Amino acid sequence: MKAYPFDYVRPRSLDEACSLLAGDDGARAIAGGQTLVPMMVMRLARPARLIDISRIAVLAYVRADEFGISIGATTPQGVVERNALVGAKVPLLARAIPHIGHAATRARGTVGGSLANADPAAELPLVAVTLDAVLSYRFGAATAEVPARDFFVGPMTTSLPAGGCLVNVGFPVWKGDRIGVGFREVSARRSDFAFAAAAAQVALGADGRCKRIAIGVGAVTDFPIRLASAERALIGSELRPEDVKAAVRDELDGHEMLADLHASSQYRRRAAVALAARAVADALCEAQTSRTDAH
Ligand SMILES: Cc1cc2nc3c(=O)[nH]c(=O)nc-3n(C[C@H](O)[C@H](O)[C@H](O)COP(=O)(O)OP(=O)(O)OC[C@H]3O[C@@H](n4cnc5c(N)ncnc54)[C@H](O)[C@@H]3O)c2cc1C
Repeated sequence: MKAYPFDYVRPRSLDEACSLLAGDDGARAIAGGQTLVPMMVMRLARPARLIDISRIAVLAYVRADEFGISIGATTPQGVVERNALVGAKVPLLARAIPHIGHAATRARGTVGGSLANADPAAELPLVAVTLDAVLSYRFGAATAEVPARDFFVGPMTTSLPAGGCLVNVGFPVWKGDRIGVGFREVSARRSDFAFAAAAAQVALGADGRCKRIAIGVGAVTDFPIRLASAERALIGSELRPEDVKAAVRDELDGHEMLADLHASSQYRRRAAVALAARAVADALCEAQTSRTDAH
């Protein structure tokens, strides 16, 4: 199939892009085009006008700042994957990105595009929710910030206003040593979207017990969720797999699981519990062997 006819504009500046997006109901941002182009070709999306933000240089960066690590919306996923600062300061992000599609899709697909697209099974939204990332966007000349936990509101649905342009995502950096991360997912093939996924970051105290923990699950509910009650139950524990499974299972009992042709809701519930336990076990193992104050 072919896309419906559309206009194409490549603005020279962020101001121009934001004004074009906010001022036209039929306009839509295109970044890497890895999702939007197939949607248009299948006629599932019909924007009247594409505003190409992929070459706006001020939107592509990875930098350390007072918040932690900030990443510009049009930074390609593959660039973040190979960034040394991300590997050292936000290792969970570095661990998750290789699970996104193929090297070729990560070369064009952007961080902001994946977040704005809000696929329930996408890895970047899961990491953003798990680590309490903060997203910044422009609407015309106005700017706003929204925590990741409030950004994703449904499958492929965010709180970004129509005509808004995502510009930045900030990831907090955990300070101290004895920090480890884990990311696990199941999919039909490595490059495919996950049926279930889990992310975990753990910090251990001097006694070897859990001092701080963040656990998130993705692909099992309408949008990724952080398991705050499970985390509270596990603080101060030795993170034994049976305790992690019980805490995660208890919290997921309160959530309805997705079901589709690929996986039933029962399967997704079981998989989420098992994957969360494995992600935490990986994080624990890494934290126990990390000796340096690398973070
Ligand atoms: C074969 C294949 C396999 C894939 N596998 C995976 C996978 O396993 N996991 C995964 O997470 N993804 C996967 N993807 C999707 C890929 O990660 C895309 O890169 C991503 O979903 C969208 O990023 P993009 O930059 O290409 O966005 P685009 O396709 O350009 O845009 C996607 C949507 O986001 C909007 N948008 C883009 N940027 C902004 C912005 N800055 N502000 C506001 N709105 C914006 C667009 O208007 C559009 O609605 C796969 C894609 C392909 C083709």
